[in-house]
Amino acid sequence: MQNKLFIDGQWVAPADGTMLPVIDPATEEVFHHIPAAGAAEAEAAVKAAREAFDNGPWPRLSGKERAKYLRAMAQGIRDRLPELARLETRDNGKPLPESEWDLADAAGCFDFYADLAEELDGEVEEVKLADARFVSKAVREPLGVAVAIVPWNYPLLMASWKVAPALAAGCTMILKPAETTSLTALELGAIAEAAGLPKGVLNILSGKGSVVGQALVDHPQVDKVAFTGSGPVGSRIMAAGAKDIKRISLELGGKSPFVVFADSDIEKAVEWIMFGIFWNQGQVCSATSRVLVEAPLYPKLLERLIEEAKKIKIGNGLDEGTLLGPLVNKGQYEDVLRHIDRAVEQGATVACGGKHEGFNRGFWVAPTILTDMALDSDAWVEEIFGPVVCIRPFETEDEAIHLANDSRFGLAAAVMSDDDARAERVAAALRAGIVWINCSQPTFTEAPWGGYKQSGTGRELGRWGLDNYLETKQITRLVSDEPWGWYLK
Ligand code: NAD
Repeated sequence: MQNKLFIDGQWVAPADGTMLPVIDPATEEVFHHIPAAGAAEAEAAVKAAREAFDNGPWPRLSGKERAKYLRAMAQGIRDRLPELARLETRDNGKPLPESEWDLADAAGCFDFYADLAEELDGEVEEVKLADARFVSKAVREPLGVAVAIVPWNYPLLMASWKVAPALAAGCTMILKPAETTSLTALELGAIAEAAGLPKGVLNILSGKGSVVGQALVDHPQVDKVAFTGSGPVGSRIMAAGAKDIKRISLELGGKSPFVVFADSDIEKAVEWIMFGIFWNQGQVCSATSRVLVEAPLYPKLLERLIEEAKKIKIGNGLDEGTLLGPLVNKGQYEDVLRHIDRAVEQGATVACGGKHEGFNRGFWVAPTILTDMALDSDAWVEEIFGPVVCIRPFETEDEAIHLANDSRFGLAAAVMSDDDARAERVAAALRAGIVWINCSQPTFTEAPWGGYKQSGTGRELGRWGLDNYLETKQITRLVSDEPWGWYLK
């Protein structure tokens, strides 16, 4: 486990010696300490990334050359996958098979952007001009020094969604993982080092968001900030970036609806509702946390859902067969329990779940189903970010669409129906950046990811994710020999 910061290809201790405890959320054991970068390290990392961009080889290499490093990093993750997955589970709490899946996806993300880096070579778009005296073309170039600030719910995967496209584009980067889950992000430094990545291209600073995160966001030599996390911090980052017109992309929270029509197969509906909200303990920005069920199916579906939710095996993520681990940390655990208490105060019924009392230590919340909540209650409106689903019946398709869209968020949505035409119609009407039909949550590196409304701005993944790190330049040439004749007649 790393205990230093990765700056300019070197492992360095924070100048003021600050370290943060790493707590296993299943046992509350402090099993490591990570370095907390401060303003001095932010300065050093930006300087290194700036130098690597302005004068180093990285942005000048062909995409084909950069792709080799990206593929080596993908392989580096794969070679260490079992060890990294255990680290992720101890750090975050999620069941080991989920960590293994995340890390395989992270490796796949580096491979995917290696392919796109190669496609950038020689990419030129001829621009048709109405004026025949000129010819014009558009080319794309790396936009400079990028900062990635990532959350704790998918630690290495969220980092990869930003690091891989940034490097593929030819940017240099400073990665700031969440203070609760920095272990695998720091290991990515070792993986980059082993891949021979030139110094300064990727710098990794663990530490507090309010200290090192803020210093990076405020730094005038940073060209771009890519952020995933909470709305309030995203809003602050956007405001800070406005000062010197930084490029900002934000992936924020959600309160995503799942509309289930009565013609759906009930067992499939139960499976996908559970996957939509209990996977990763519900700590998923796209979690389908508001379920709307067509009235005739509602009683039976609720009954089956409660039955199955109660069967989910809760335990240490490292234990065989665990399907639900602890929440990531004490703060998140207390927050989720507060949300459940408030839901009850505001009139909701806890159909199952709540605080899980099975263990002496750790941050456990059982799969929780809330019913009877008012449409203006916090439980229905606010992101809970835990294994808590709100479920209610609806009568008509129009009502379902209205209720689904009645949110300040617009990250994801899902619809299930045996009638394909209806499913497509509802999918088209849902105001969200990601819409799943007959499922919820499967995420693909090739497809665009991001939110409408207050769920963010910009898109990650796919070719859209690469666009985040590129500037477009037009090059226009005068090809006519005719005198221009404005001043010189
Ligand atoms: P957060 O927004 O506080 O933290 C996300 C990242 O931003 C972390 O790396 C953090 O260190 C950094 N950060 C915090 N303050 C910063 C600042 N002033 N400048 C720069 N960087 C800063 O989120 P959190 O505390 O980890 O979780 C709080 C809530 O955010 C959760 O309960 C949930 O609602 C939401 N969340 C959403 C996602 C998502 O994927 N959309 C992921 C995690 C959390």
